[in-house]
Amino acid sequence: MTTTAQPPAEFAAAMEQHFIEGADDWRKVIVGLQDESRFADIYGTYAHLYTPEQLSALSAARDASDDPVERDRMRRLWFEAADAVAAADVVQAAQDLTNERLAWRVEFDGEERSVNALGAMIAAETDYDRREAIYELMCRADEEFAERDVELSARSQELRSAVFGLEGEVAIANARMGIDVAEFSRQVTEVADRTADAYAAQAATLFPELLGRDVQRPSRAHAAYVRSLHGWDDTYTRERMAEVCDRTVAELGFPLADIPTILPDLEDRPEKDPRACVIPVRVPEEVHLVVRPTGGITDYQAFLHEAGHALHFGLTSDQLPFEHRYVSPDNALTEIYSYVVERITHEPLWHVRHFGVSREQADRVVDEIRFVDASLFRRYGAKLAYELEFWADPRDPRNPERYRERLSAATLMDYPTSQFASDMDAGLYAADYLRAWRTSEQVIAWLRREHGEEWFCNGEAADFLRDLFVQGSLPSNEDVSRQIGSSPDDFEALVSHLVD
Ligand SMILES: [Zn+2]
Repeated sequence: MTTTAQPPAEFAAAMEQHFIEGADDWRKVIVGLQDESRFADIYGTYAHLYTPEQLSALSAARDASDDPVERDRMRRLWFEAADAVAAADVVQAAQDLTNERLAWRVEFDGEERSVNALGAMIAAETDYDRREAIYELMCRADEEFAERDVELSARSQELRSAVFGLEGEVAIANARMGIDVAEFSRQVTEVADRTADAYAAQAATLFPELLGRDVQRPSRAHAAYVRSLHGWDDTYTRERMAEVCDRTVAELGFPLADIPTILPDLEDRPEKDPRACVIPVRVPEEVHLVVRPTGGITDYQAFLHEAGHALHFGLTSDQLPFEHRYVSPDNALTEIYSYVVERITHEPLWHVRHFGVSREQADRVVDEIRFVDASLFRRYGAKLAYELEFWADPRDPRNPERYRERLSAATLMDYPTSQFASDMDAGLYAADYLRAWRTSEQVIAWLRREHGEEWFCNGEAADFLRDLFVQGSLPSNEDVSRQIGSSPDDFEALVSHLVD
């Protein structure tokens, strides 16, 4: 019998090349340098790697090893290979759908606009009614693609279940993350329930205040605008963003100018995705930090969040193998680092130090920032609960209504049904964010105990963080929790963050 399987090290080297090409293609699309993605074409040039024989060879290598680190490496390779094997029959449809969404245009204000252009506009639009009009257009795009989104999700889940030998995306996520996602979702819902009254009380005053209108339950059209806290734009100017953020990260102990592997891209291009991100094309050598400034404090937060990821990937040891440098079972670990760095904006002292505001003003802006954070936490908690239902049957006609009900009830904003299939991230990423919400609060409480109230600007947190970054993707989110003497079942630091 002929076999197409390669030895694990050769397979890993070839897969790394595939990932590098894929990440580079994706980066060019995200930053608006390329109007179409080619991920299916790139997949085609590597498709010969992804065979059932290769999967068998990797599981045989895993079972043959007594070394737990080696077994973990083979296990990670197997999961990545299984993703790729299962993608064969849907990757072209996924690329077509992605590119049609990128090419979608609608007229607004006499100009043709893309979904990304509308997304950037809505966050900065000061007029209430115009925000609703823009949002309606964004929802129209989602409605047009919903049926195909659902079909692709359903088909992909069927194929993946067969390749993984597991029943559905949730079972695959459980195996991959090493947690029980449904149980974790119940714990998150409990935190949301415990903090619901505090959130409702804040919402009753802050929604009308931030929107300048007596509205108790604004539509989701206003979410990005609320998040931007534009009332403070004169203080948190676009012009100072890069300089202040650079200084903030340097004071934490990581001057970006000394880390040549991190490449910031802050340009405002029309087709650039308004959602900030980090794209590690080569780890640790080439890590792109991508932010599209739309004005306001949210730009600072986006930059710092992504800087946390960039420090992680850019400072990962180049001595680690591909599986512990580039591959990760999930994103819950790296999201701890992004949250910790972003959380610096929750420190009143940071505002006093960098913006010349009084302590009283700093406390006010931090109250608003924490309200926005609580709103996002509640959104992701509801999204995870909804996504567990969605994956039970993507074609279930009750899904749009479930989405609307769960998200509206949790955030006290009125969600439409139209984004039920598009407002989802692959691989139950909502769970990764929520794991990071929990563990980052544990880490910050610990850093404050160890290094004082000025942990974020006295450089003393740097050794602890650097030791973690160097290890790449080796530890799990829950390992970090245990390392500081906490526990993955301990949500108290998060609860006090949400209600204080
Ligand atoms: Zn992130």
